[in-house]
Amino acid sequence: MTIDDPTVKLPMSAFEVLAVSKLSPLYVAHLEGAFTLLDRLHETDPAAFAAAAPRIRAIAASGESKVPASLIERLPALELISVMGVGYDGVDVAAAKARKVMVTHTPDVLNDDVADLAIGLMLCAARQLPAADRYVREGRWAQQGPMPLQRKMSGARLGIVGMGRIGQAIATRATAFGMQIAYTARSAKPALPYRYLPDAAALAAEVDFLVVITPGGAGTRKLIDARVLQALGSKGILVNVARGSVVDEAALIDALEKGVIAGAGLDVFEDEPNVPERLRALPHVVLAPHIGSATAATRQAMADLAFGNLREHFAGRSLMTPVPECRT
Ligand code: NAP
Repeated sequence: MTIDDPTVKLPMSAFEVLAVSKLSPLYVAHLEGAFTLLDRLHETDPAAFAAAAPRIRAIAASGESKVPASLIERLPALELISVMGVGYDGVDVAAAKARKVMVTHTPDVLNDDVADLAIGLMLCAARQLPAADRYVREGRWAQQGPMPLQRKMSGARLGIVGMGRIGQAIATRATAFGMQIAYTARSAKPALPYRYLPDAAALAAEVDFLVVITPGGAGTRKLIDARVLQALGSKGILVNVARGSVVDEAALIDALEKGVIAGAGLDVFEDEPNVPERLRALPHVVLAPHIGSATAATRQAMADLAFGNLREHFAGRSLMTPVPECRT
């Protein structure tokens, strides 16, 4: 069934959309208002899912959802996978494309929030703000006197791994902190006023803070490994706001325990929401529960855009934000 079929004149509420994992209530509200939403039916009721599968025309997903080829294959009427999130490493885009199924995501609307969080984690790790808060609450300021001195961030050297939309928003903010900025990416960006280094290890060797903001997936798996951490060195601070898969977590824990690097600020982990006990035990690590885009305003903008792609598609208009692999 395609949008050229007469059936497209049905009200959109007749179209069945599979929510493939637990979605933001903001996205769900849009979906329930417009379509027949099958919320995780493939997990909760396999028999009902088998009956509905031939009618399902779209998948609604989050940035963390898994949409494997095996699921795509079971949905012969599938036309669109709309991800609420900029990262879509859980979607088998090649399998979708082979079936002429389009994939959309929500770039740009979350740049500010993720960049804000990266700067926040840098400041928290350098100035030990969570520990400072505990110091006051636990009465240690009165008992023990001033806290130990911490690291200065303004004017320090920053390396950004991934100089895309969010990487550039981080660089803009870091400029206001007087930081010296260098980066690595798959290709140099001559139009940007920052120094390019060919790989993460070369970059790490030259900076005080290393911020990781690439996509996840096979191309970046364990890009930040023991060698990169060694290059960052005993005064270096690692911040990961990309995906847990981009950092070798075992190597990171090892490096933190042994003082190979000074500290870390982490928003993402290998096996979310499970964070290893050894990592949680380290005092010089600041941890956040994957909150890069988690403000009310940004999540609403992401839900609006994820829904907008579905609405435009079923109205026969152009998609707003197809992923690069699906752009013609
Ligand atoms: P983007 O505009 O596509 O930028 C990605 C950057 O990563 C590009 O500069 C790209 O290089 C670089 N890159 C890709 N593969 C690389 C590799 N193997 N080695 C080095 N650099 C590589 O994406 P974005 O919008 O900035 O988002 C980046 C990622 O942030 C998302 O994919 C998502 O995983 C993550 N994210 C996390 C949160 C959170 O909540 N923590 C929220 C939003 C996004 P080129 O420019 O040379 O292609």
